[in-house]
This record gives sequence, structure tokens and C-alpha cells, in this order.
Amino acid sequence: MTTDLYIYKKEIDWSALHLGVNIPVSLQNIFYENINIKLQKGENKKIKLLLDGVEYPAILTNIYFDEAKYPTHKELLQIRWTQNSEIAQKLRDIFSSSYNYLFIEKEKLTNKKKQLSVPEEIREYLAIYSTVFDDVFAIECITQSDISETKQEIRRYNELELEQIIQATDSPAFIEKTRTTKIRKLDKTIGDNLKRLYEYKCQICGLHIGESYNATVIHTHHIEYFSVSLNNNADNIMVICPNHHGIIHTTNPVFNREKKLFAYPNGYSEGLKLNLHL
Ligand SMILES: [Zn+2]
Ligand SMILES: [Zn+2]
Repeated sequence: MTTDLYIYKKEIDWSALHLGVNIPVSLQNIFYENINIKLQKGENKKIKLLLDGVEYPAILTNIYFDEAKYPTHKELLQIRWTQNSEIAQKLRDIFSSSYNYLFIEKEKLTNKKKQLSVPEEIREYLAIYSTVFDDVFAIECITQSDISETKQEIRRYNELELEQIIQATDSPAFIEKTRTTKIRKLDKTIGDNLKRLYEYKCQICGLHIGESYNATVIHTHHIEYFSVSLNNNADNIMVICPNHHGIIHTTNPVFNREKKLFAYPNGYSEGLKLNLHL
């Protein structure tokens, strides 16, 4: 359906609507690899952002910091625009719900520098993808109305069905263009990146089930059920084999985030053999 690769999902805040977004280059290095531009620290590059078929100019920067002073500081990429740029105006227009909320809350603040965030139930997102052109990034706006329509549409599926629909790019339900397409595409691309990160191995048993057959049958699973939360942050997604996926949805174990283990209703518990991102 698309050759776009996921780079980052950013929640909308004041700075995204005025100055740009930061992309932390951390554990999820594989996401960084999707960017074909290698920038030295402090280096900039002119890029274009593609939104609804229109290109907007922006700057990609690898933020400079003094490594001697901040040895543990992670590399940070930034896509920058200015307050009065066309892209900033367009984003404030599309994300008017977040903008209005933040604008009102900011007025109430005595310390104007304080970071504000939009409450989870009305939060909106920007999805950033690389394209076939190194200097063009596609951005998609996931608004409150996209989210509520998706919630409506997915009500007819159970969680396992829904996860399978999302993962199958060739399923008619995926191709069907609705307002939910953006959210399903984002979920799938985040999942695909995680599958690559784990080299198609199950995080629970560590096995690459299809390897001898040269087949990829690995699944992604949402810790907090996607049908309920629509939470497709990488830290809500696990890479697991079809067997473990079936067992999880049959028995509904509780996942202990701190200990990284599943507690099954019969008392059995099982940890993760592989974990690079949770
Ligand atoms: Zn497994
Ligand atoms: Zn699942």
C-alpha cells in the first residue's frame, strides 16, 4: 500500500504548533535508520514536509550539545519551522482543538515557560513518515475526529481480529479508505518497525517461528488493548509469535510492566526472553 516508513509519533503540544518537533534518537535506533540523512551534531538540512498533497519547507537539525559536559545525553533530531510559517499556521488550523485548549490554559499560567500538555482523552497526534525522497517527509494529522470515528468503526471487532486486520495490509478492510486509515497505518508501521527491531522473533519465547520455512508469521500485540485505548505508542506494543498471541487472548493474563512478566489466571507466570523497548 505504501513504502512510507514510520519515523515518529508526536503528541500535539504548544511547541509543535509553533516551532517544530523533537525526535529522540534512543533505543528505537531502527526508526532513525529510516531517515536516509546522516547529520553531524549541529548540522542542518533543508527538508520538505508533505501534508495533504502540499509541500512545506522546514529544517532538519541534529541538535548540538557538548558531549564532554553531557556524556549521557542522547542524540536529538529536530524538525523546525517558525511561528508564522505556513506549516505552523496549517497545523494550528487542523489541530484547532488542541490549540484552543493550550491557548486558554497558557493564559491562566503565571510561569509562561511551564510545559503544558493536552489531557489524554482529547490528545491529538502528528505521524511522521519518511518517503522515497530523502529530503521529503510525509506528515499526517490525527485529530480528535479521526480518533472518535476510528473508535466507532472498530467496535464491531474483537481485539485479536482487530490486530489481525491492522497487520494484514492486503485485507480489504485496510485498503478501504476511511478516516480510520491514518490510525491503522500508523499502528501497522510502528508494529512493522518493532518486528524488524526483534528480527521477527517472539519477545516471550525468543523464537523466529517461520524461519525454517522462510516465512514471517510474527504478530504484534497491544498490552493495553487497542480496541479500547487506540494506544499505538511503541511502548504499548509487543512482538509475539502466533502461539503466544493466541494464548494471551484466550487467557487474558495481566502484564506486569515493572517486572516485565505475564501473570496467567492459573498462577503460571512468564517473563520476556527479549526486550529492547519496554
Ligand atoms: Zn512465542
Ligand atoms: Zn493481541
